[in-house]
Amino acid sequence: MLKEYAYTPRYAYFTMEIALHNDIPTYAGGLGVLAGDTLRAAADLEIPLVVVTLVSSDGYFRQELDAAGRQRELLATWEPARVATPLDAKVVVTIEGRRVWVGAWLYVVEGHMNGGRQPVILLDTDLDENSSEDRTITRQLYGGDEVYRLKQEIVLGIGGMRMLQALGFTIEQYHLNEGHSALLALELLDRHAFPPEELRPGESPYDIPRVRELCNFTTHTPVEAGHDRFSYAVVQRLLGKEFFDLTTLKRLAGAEELNMTRLALNLSDYVNGVAKRHAEVSRRMFPGYRVHAVTNGVHPHTWSCPSFRKVYDQFMPGWCHEPELLIRADCCIPDAVIQQAHHEAKAALIDRVQALTGVVLDPKVPIFGFARRMTAYKRPDLLFADLARLRNIAQQWPFQLLLAGKAHPRDEGGKRLIERVHAHLRELNADIRGAFLPDYDMDLALNLVSGVDVWLNTPLRPYEASGTSGMKAAFNGVPQLSVLDGWWVEGCIEGVTGWAVGDSSETANGQDSLSLYDKLEHVVLPLYHTDQPRWTAVMKGAISKNASFFNSHRMMRRYASEAYLR
Ligand SMILES: *Cc1c(COP(=O)(O)O)cnc(C)c1O
Repeated sequence: MLKEYAYTPRYAYFTMEIALHNDIPTYAGGLGVLAGDTLRAAADLEIPLVVVTLVSSDGYFRQELDAAGRQRELLATWEPARVATPLDAKVVVTIEGRRVWVGAWLYVVEGHMNGGRQPVILLDTDLDENSSEDRTITRQLYGGDEVYRLKQEIVLGIGGMRMLQALGFTIEQYHLNEGHSALLALELLDRHAFPPEELRPGESPYDIPRVRELCNFTTHTPVEAGHDRFSYAVVQRLLGKEFFDLTTLKRLAGAEELNMTRLALNLSDYVNGVAKRHAEVSRRMFPGYRVHAVTNGVHPHTWSCPSFRKVYDQFMPGWCHEPELLIRADCCIPDAVIQQAHHEAKAALIDRVQALTGVVLDPKVPIFGFARRMTAYKRPDLLFADLARLRNIAQQWPFQLLLAGKAHPRDEGGKRLIERVHAHLRELNADIRGAFLPDYDMDLALNLVSGVDVWLNTPLRPYEASGTSGMKAAFNGVPQLSVLDGWWVEGCIEGVTGWAVGDSSETANGQDSLSLYDKLEHVVLPLYHTDQPRWTAVMKGAISKNASFFNSHRMMRRYASEAYLR
């Protein structure tokens, strides 16, 4: 199979979720979209990467909402056979003392520019050889309990390594996208163990420095509680007592519990956070580790709507390969061209909203958009903190609202937030037109980030490691109004690329709703309603200052030059 590629993959990117295509539901949110954009950038840049992930044949889930905003989760079953090729290779991992067979599918991503072809290995335990229970291990992304999760991580980390070997790949560098795949480093240690006769008493049997040279780890989680951990009792029950020297494992992964982040940190020479602020937070959380900052970016072609692609093709040919060219957008693209491109995207969104919900939005009135995973730290209800004030602002300066997002099936708080937002929208109905759109996915995301007039983000600091949807908005000339956390600490130039809510200190969290209302009432809405030329300048500022920088090509070039080639 290696001969199918113009080059031989030398770098392996391991990820639990990845957004390969809108119809392949193997992603839950930003982490998976980032993995997909990383792969698409590698394909454009012909960086020899192979992706290893789970097939997740029941997907994450499809979201249905009733009138009260109660979420129903439906299976998002997809057929790998329709888009991927089954591979002959099979490998085995041991779980609870049973041999669990792991097969694989090959999915190929084509580069947008130059025929780069990027292999994706989708691991699958749904094989006749396995018990009915083991056949379900690779079905549901982030489904089940802690034991189910660890089984998935065994298949991803250990099974994935064995699969690469069985397929004949020679990998020079491994990239762990988040801690889920950290068990791959244990498999590497096993392959780099010293023969017993060379060991001196008290010395580690493993060549840890060699394994560290091979591993690169990108962490995405700015709080301790968010990291995957497993009790050693569960680890030993699933993997067996013989699997790995427990003393060494505890030294590498934590004395009390197996912490996947610690394991990855201790076995990777190159570690990075996904924005400058996030790297600082990670250094505080894990003192003693060198944490680099590679700020995320989004894939230019994927996240530009058709009308803006056409504009960029005309004014900055080559922008898909070299998105830096967009730096010229503010001087080179006439205002009327920007406005027309946005008008088309807004019309497409308005049509879609009507088809989905029956709500008819007014193209002359600004639309604010908020869509992402619905979970407490994202604070989708912050905008609704004071309904009287919000109504008052809308009477002075009309605006419309669109929201979307899924809550994890076990995140009861997230589900309640969706219901609460529905209730608020109903209450405001007479004064503010708006809707909550069901089943947020990549396709809807592109419609939203291009068709609204302002992209909103109001997370609780410092929980937003990066955030990427605001970068997608920038590619479509849509400025962001956001709390200063994650990438926005770097991306916000007040009044030039968008606007800040509060300042970047964690003590500002409590005053954010006031700050948000003040910005809306005194800055953002008056500008939209009274000064379209200056509004258009902000749209151009978002493109030229942010899309030119916060793109996946810069990010991928940095991973290649600073991590893989170190
Ligand atoms: C980009 C994207 C996200 C991530 O959005 P954030 O603003 O970073 O939270 C989540 N879901 C989908 C479908 C996306 O396209």
